[in-house]
Amino acid sequence: MCGIIGYLGYRDAYPIIINGLKKLEYRGYDSSGIALFYKDGYSLCKTKGRVNELEKKIYSNNIKISGTIGIGHTRWATHGVPNDLNAHPHVSNSNKLIMIHNGIIENYHAIKIVLLKNGFTFKSKTDTEVFINFIEYIKKENKSSLEEAVRISLNEIIGAYSIVVIDKSHPETIIIAKLGSPLALGINDKEFFIASDTIPFVNYTKNVIYLKDGEMAILRKGKELDLRKIINNHKLNPIIKKLKINLKQIEKGEYKYFMLKEIHEQPKTILDTLRGRLLIPKGIICIDGIESNKNIFINAKSITIVACGTSWHASLIGEYLLEELASIPVEVEYASEFRYRNPIINKKNIIIVISQSGETADTLAALKLAKKKGAFVFGICNVVGSSIARNVDAGAYTHAGPEIGVASTKSFTAQITILILLALKIGKYRSSINDNRYKCLCQELGLISEKVYHTLKKDDSIKKISKVYHNVNNFLYLGRGINFPVALEGALKLKEISYIHAEGYPAAEIKHGPIALIDENMPVVIIATKKGCYNKIIGNIQEIKARKGKIIAIVNEGDIQVSTLADHVIKIPNSSEELSPLITVIPLQLLAYQIAYIRGENVDQPRNLAKSVTVE
Ligand code: GLU
Repeated sequence: MCGIIGYLGYRDAYPIIINGLKKLEYRGYDSSGIALFYKDGYSLCKTKGRVNELEKKIYSNNIKISGTIGIGHTRWATHGVPNDLNAHPHVSNSNKLIMIHNGIIENYHAIKIVLLKNGFTFKSKTDTEVFINFIEYIKKENKSSLEEAVRISLNEIIGAYSIVVIDKSHPETIIIAKLGSPLALGINDKEFFIASDTIPFVNYTKNVIYLKDGEMAILRKGKELDLRKIINNHKLNPIIKKLKINLKQIEKGEYKYFMLKEIHEQPKTILDTLRGRLLIPKGIICIDGIESNKNIFINAKSITIVACGTSWHASLIGEYLLEELASIPVEVEYASEFRYRNPIINKKNIIIVISQSGETADTLAALKLAKKKGAFVFGICNVVGSSIARNVDAGAYTHAGPEIGVASTKSFTAQITILILLALKIGKYRSSINDNRYKCLCQELGLISEKVYHTLKKDDSIKKISKVYHNVNNFLYLGRGINFPVALEGALKLKEISYIHAEGYPAAEIKHGPIALIDENMPVVIIATKKGCYNKIIGNIQEIKARKGKIIAIVNEGDIQVSTLADHVIKIPNSSEELSPLITVIPLQLLAYQIAYIRGENVDQPRNLAKSVTVE
């Protein structure tokens, strides 16, 4: 995810581009770049770091900032670490074509091989540089116009993109296109504003066209917009909408807090994590870091997963998945504990480290200790090019996009998604999962985001429950099997943002202590889905009811038994047990959010917490 911006008109482009980039920084901020086009040339400036670093570089290098045409990009790397070379805009080999891109080109590797054979060279590690050179190659081969070359290449591209392409010798024509990534076009008489969302141009125009997937537009200075269908070049009638928004609102879209936005993004982020990795028709899971180390995983005697906080909860789910599907014994450790003892590991061990930011200090230290002892280390991170990503032997990015809310939500489901893929892939290598089960789980995984979407619709009933319990002092969260870590995560979310004390427990364990706490003032959230130990959970619910505890049960649609016992039920779609945490956690995230919101807490910046814990 990144922010893209462009301007074509009669005003000074630089302030529009640079201020627009600042407003888009929430979408990505590891590097940024700008290109401006004026009468007899153009300027290009790119740098690692945030937009203020770019501004500093522009001034200290005396970069010319005139011109009424310009583009800018603030990056959230997917291919290649954040550095000056990988920053956008990218320029083609002939030094003529320039592109900014938001998204991922899944087949970039195959295209790169073709281009290399045809003499192309590459300065960066990005998929985007391959993309712009592919357009150049098609243009030369077909002797076509730029717009036709863009259109032909887009029909060959697999992946997600919103792009802006300019031929620097004819900058008064700009080509934009979209598939999967957002692109808004602001229009006024004789000027066009292009951006990932409307924030950067809402002060200039209220007329907006949201490009749809599979559409491209040719923008010519002073002329009417030319909107086309990418697949067949058919002309389309643009639908112009009127913006009725204020700036503050759209920064978080329609949401009051980033956390709520990120909770609602999960159907999409799960798909982003799966993109290019789960190829359902072929029944194939592609994870480079596993494929290139196949024998290490086939011969593994055990795996240790090391993490902190929410990632530690995802690790516990990983333990269940890897033992169940790949038949490998797994241990899960807190990074802060692991690093300060003398863990018995050597070169026969596999260590998996998990961290959203890839900068968590304890996890990084644990990684270094494991490597020193000779272990093979596999990383699961969200931030590309982060310290953990750079130090592991192999790994997989979660591709969940920047997470701004301090309480992690979409990263958790993205980490679980990777762990499911990992367990299935390794299970297949080790023949510990039969073909039918493998196929069914792959198919179900491909459709899981629909179920997550459906579950998000329970928000209204969760709001009602939150109104009943927002004033209590304690909460208990119970689950069993793979949903025990989900109970831990639900309790953590509530603690983090509402400051209500909450504990997560394996449901059967309450008899060994916590049941003493239960009285009519104690709400107990219990995950009681049909799979797993359903009958046992009914027993646990009876025990709580007998002591007057209040039951908030997460049940499957169609459930009768638990629903008649519970004080409140939240019904969620059915799923196989292995995939259920992706769904059961959603109501718990929403419950924590709604309670904190009713209590008037600052949901995105809870007291005493930081997004990425880079200190011990
Ligand atoms: N895939 C491109 C890159 O790695 C664009 C990423 C983005 O959307 O920021 O540079």
